[in-house]
Amino acid sequence: MTTDRLLDLVGVAGGPSAEASLFHLEVIEAGPLTPTFHRVVLTAPGLGDLLYRAGQDLMLRIPQAGERIVNRRYTIRDFDPARAAVTIDVSLHGAGPGTDWVRGAGIGDRIDAIGPRGKVTLREDADRHLFVGDETGVPGALAMMEALPPGSGATALLEIDTPADEQDFRPPEAETAATVDVRWLHRAGRSEPGDPSPILAALGDVALPAGPVHAYVAAEAGVVRRVREALTARGLEEAQISAKAYWRRGLPNAEHGEPARDG
Ligand SMILES: Cc1cc2nc3c(=O)[nH]c(=O)nc-3n(C[C@H](O)[C@H](O)[C@H](O)COP(=O)(O)OP(=O)(O)OC[C@H]3O[C@@H](n4cnc5c(N)ncnc54)[C@H](O)[C@@H]3O)c2cc1C
Repeated sequence: MTTDRLLDLVGVAGGPSAEASLFHLEVIEAGPLTPTFHRVVLTAPGLGDLLYRAGQDLMLRIPQAGERIVNRRYTIRDFDPARAAVTIDVSLHGAGPGTDWVRGAGIGDRIDAIGPRGKVTLREDADRHLFVGDETGVPGALAMMEALPPGSGATALLEIDTPADEQDFRPPEAETAATVDVRWLHRAGRSEPGDPSPILAALGDVALPAGPVHAYVAAEAGVVRRVREALTARGLEEAQISAKAYWRRGLPNAEHGEPARDG
């Protein structure tokens, strides 16, 4: 698909927009954040005017051999309008166009991206929020928790490899601010990424808050399905769950950047 055709589908090129725009990004920082996460900071003309909501992502357009482009989506972990810079945090795994590009990214490298993308953002009709994810869901969960309105509360169950992959996030500031309870779940060699057991076990130990609650689930496709089933079995309505498969065990994501539906 040509870039022009893609923009016809997703939005306009450049400029301030709540719609997706095409940005010609340049890497200004890149390096390890934790043993398995890499952080990349990117800038572009016009990026300082980006309008986005916490939880949305950028779709990197990663060149492959020949003219082929593969899209890979990464959540906006942070946005600094003064520097016209966005930060993405990527969980490195074996190999793939996304992980390979991020692993090799250096200052001055260039890449196109389309964003902001994504419909999963903080729900205003909830005052209690439950975030469930593996490492691919960590940047979105932390970004959304940093954007919680005063008086709301959040619990997060976040599966990572080891304690060394735990990450800081900006805590609520005032007494009136949101309360957050982050529980890091460590695989520590006892399970593989994409195994639903650690998250399901932790979910069983969480008391679902009374009142308007919303759950956000972002992880491997099979894990997302099992968590959604567990949440509905616990009494949540479908409308109270925003669940999205971010990758699928054993299969590359499709060229549009998400797991293929029939994969
Ligand atoms: C909306 C959205 C937002 C996302 N945000 C983030 C983010 O902020 N940070 C982040 O790290 N990821 C994020 N992801 C997930 C990321 O896009 C996928 O992991 C993607 O598959 C990576 O592409 P790749 O080219 O590296 O691997 P692919 O070519 O897709 O896959 C190659 C192989 O690696 C395996 N694989 C893919 N991802 C993983 C993984 N995480 N762990 C173990 N094996 C894997 C596949 O099963 C396959 O066998 C997001 C996905 C979506 C849809």
